[in-house]
Amino acid sequence: MQHVLVTGGAGYIGSHACKALAQAGYVPVTFDNLVTGWQDAVKFGPFEKGDLLDRARLDAVFARYQPVAVMHFAALSQVGESMAEPGRYWRNNVTGSLNLIEAAVAAGCEQFVFSSTCATYGDQDNVVLDETSEQHPINAYGASKRAIEDILRDFEAAHGLRHVIFRYFNVAGADPDGEVGEFHQPETHLVPLMLDAIEGKRDALTIHGTDYDTPDGTCIRDYVHVCDLVDAHVLGLKWLEGGKGSRVFNLGTGSGFSVREVLDHSREVTNKSVPCVDGPRRPGDCTKLVSGSQRAEDDLGWRPQRSNLRQMITDAWRWHQNGHYDR
Ligand code: UDP
Repeated sequence: MQHVLVTGGAGYIGSHACKALAQAGYVPVTFDNLVTGWQDAVKFGPFEKGDLLDRARLDAVFARYQPVAVMHFAALSQVGESMAEPGRYWRNNVTGSLNLIEAAVAAGCEQFVFSSTCATYGDQDNVVLDETSEQHPINAYGASKRAIEDILRDFEAAHGLRHVIFRYFNVAGADPDGEVGEFHQPETHLVPLMLDAIEGKRDALTIHGTDYDTPDGTCIRDYVHVCDLVDAHVLGLKWLEGGKGSRVFNLGTGSGFSVREVLDHSREVTNKSVPCVDGPRRPGDCTKLVSGSQRAEDDLGWRPQRSNLRQMITDAWRWHQNGHYDR
């Protein structure tokens, strides 16, 4: 059986990726420091607790499993926090990734799938963002991810490390079987916060900014279902295994929804109103991020199955009511 090293495999997207990899016949080895991940979410392969800043630990895990590829999800990923604590983001995301990339090269592992973000594009109002769009991140999170993309290009040129970079738009939803789902502590993402507010588990949702240059004044995002997203990662791995060259892919649907539109859909799905209040803008937020690319569909044969907003909120709501992790 072929092992794939999954950093951040105990997190939201990483745990779904482990399930998809196991279903595709690989053994996903989760490497996670459990700072934001949950050991309960590691269900589909072995678990190795460790930190990306610990190079010796990484070397030991590569030696033990000899993975055919790395899927790198582990990162700090909150835009607002990255503006307040940029040092943590640069150290954890960039230095940690550099350690991982160097460990992969040293171990002779030459296939690397990287979780990047549409935040690398920055604020480009009314521009369709495809993979050739310029990258001008406006927050430390996006800047740290763009730096890792640059590192990967240099390591391919010098050491032949082939990579697929996925730039995610907004990920939502949960495994329809309820085995894994989204659970951050603290939570900052719109969909889970909204569902918490509906259930009365927290105070009203604050809408971060109502004076943006959009039809209803709130930010617009392109939401993609986590299961579709991780399916693309398996296809990306197969792309590399097929001997194809390094490639960047956006993962979004091409449809944008404002914060108020997401709230409207939630009301319809749950039949409950969302308590919410208008608030100020959140530092680092872009006005509109919508993917304008067909590349993943054309090149990888990616066919999103569940990425309509109603389905995403339905799956997230089911997980929200039934699923949980213990620490
Ligand atoms: N948002 C909001 N209130 C919240 C959390 C998020 O209005 O409590 C907005 C946020 O400003 C952005 C959108 O919802 O426009 C999605 O934010 P999220 O944090 O889920 O993802 P991001 O776009 O930052 O990756």
